[in-house]
Parts: sequence; C-alpha cells; structure tokens
Amino acid sequence: MPNLSQETMESLEKRMEKQKEQIEKDLSKFASKDPDSEGDWDSKYPKLDANENVDLEREADEVEEYTTRVSVEHSLEKHLEDINLALEKIKKKKYGICENCGKDIPLKRLKIYPEARYCIACNQKGPV
Ligand SMILES: [Zn+2]
Repeated sequence: MPNLSQETMESLEKRMEKQKEQIEKDLSKFASKDPDSEGDWDSKYPKLDANENVDLEREADEVEEYTTRVSVEHSLEKHLEDINLALEKIKKKKYGICENCGKDIPLKRLKIYPEARYCIACNQKGPV
C-alpha cells in the first residue's frame, strides 16, 4: 500500500463518494437501477406507440436517442464501477496499488484520477 497519509486518503475517498453520487444522479435520469444486480443500470427504453399510426420518423429518432443513451450509460456505469472498486480497496487497505503489476500508483496520478486501477505504465499498455 502506498504511503498515503490518512488525510490524503480521506480527501480522495470523499471526492469519490461525491462523484459516485453525481454519477448515480445522472444515471437515474435515463436509466433505472437493476434491482437484481448491484451497480447495474438499465436504460429506459422509449415507449413506442403501439397504435397503427406510428410516426416512423419519430420512432427512428427515439431509437437513435436510445442508442446514444445506452453508450452514455455504459461509460457512466464503467466509471461508477471503478469508483466502487476503489472505495472497496480503501476499506480493504489495498488502495493505490496497480491491479496489473502490483506497484504503487503514484499519488500524483491518484490526485487526478482517484479511482485509477492501474499505474501509468500499465494504463498506457491498455487493458490487460
Ligand atoms: Zn502497473
């Protein structure tokens, strides 16, 4: 575990808690929390008109909008997942260690991106 002071740790933790709240708020605008799995969200699918005079253009728009929403949702969800993982690691006193090589993640990086899972070198190599 990197040599982080209690104070630094707490401030990073607070920042992540805040960010988590914000993301959940954003997500709740267009997705509903999946009650069966923690941290999973489902985009609300637009209610398509069931009657015969469906406005096809409007329907296409809504489907397109939905597709955009799903990709936004996924990136928010991914971010939320990283934050949850990082918060979990704080509890387990494993915070700040690269998941790939096991080295300490520099504080400089944690301050910019507290939910970082990898050190800079591993992150540049891309997902392992
Ligand atoms: Zn690493």
